[in-house]
Amino acid sequence: MASVSGSGRFALAILLLFLGQIPNAFPQSIIQSWPRNQASNDHDHDHVLYCDSWRFSVETNDAGYWSKIPARCLSFVRDYMNGDRYRSDSDVVAGDSLAFARSVEIAGDGRDAWVFDIDETLLSNLPYYESHGFGSETFDEKSFDEWVDLAEAPALPASLSLYKELEQLGFKIFLLTGRSEFQRNATEKNLVYAGYKNWERLLLRGPSDQRKPAIVYKSEKRSDLVNEGYTIHGNSGDQWSDLMGFAIAQRSFKLPNPMYYIA
Ligand SMILES: [Mg+2]
Repeated sequence: MASVSGSGRFALAILLLFLGQIPNAFPQSIIQSWPRNQASNDHDHDHVLYCDSWRFSVETNDAGYWSKIPARCLSFVRDYMNGDRYRSDSDVVAGDSLAFARSVEIAGDGRDAWVFDIDETLLSNLPYYESHGFGSETFDEKSFDEWVDLAEAPALPASLSLYKELEQLGFKIFLLTGRSEFQRNATEKNLVYAGYKNWERLLLRGPSDQRKPAIVYKSEKRSDLVNEGYTIHGNSGDQWSDLMGFAIAQRSFKLPNPMYYIA
């Protein structure tokens, strides 16, 4: 059996003494930093969990009308809109839309229609909402109209691809927007800038539509199309009021939008 020499015992004693001092050798702040970070992580986790559930309830319309995103969800909505998840959600919706569109038997009489909303459907106003709190601020019509006038909103990539595919399949594309007639030129300019072309008709709110809830205004416009003989096979929009009401499409496709709600 190996024995420990006198100098070895001395070295061992020094080592044990040193080890005994370790808890006192570090400042208190380092020792305490783990629980504080843990508390912060738990706090963040609670917010993300809550905000993800909140997003589910607004996207499914379980929440009904809401005016602003919860203050605690600002960073969640910002991260969602700027991250892969929004793009992925939009891609999946566009994929489902296209799968349905391919299953439609095109009559070939020029009456097979698909209706698209514009804002947060064909065009993304994310650059505007980036500087207006991602839906955490009260909607300001004046500054939004100034943004519309710039005609610089980019396309939602998934919607632009879908749009082109539908055109190839032979659908007549109708654009039905809550924007007003005075914004027609800016809207057309922006659509072309973003890569859209060859739509059949662009429908905007006229003077008699101004006070109507979106769900009524859009239903009436779809009803006009049906009365003209069009079959509305599909309808794409980021708001439930784009899709519900009457004269609804055979299939409706809800795009994500956790930034605002239009009744
Ligand atoms: Mg919209």
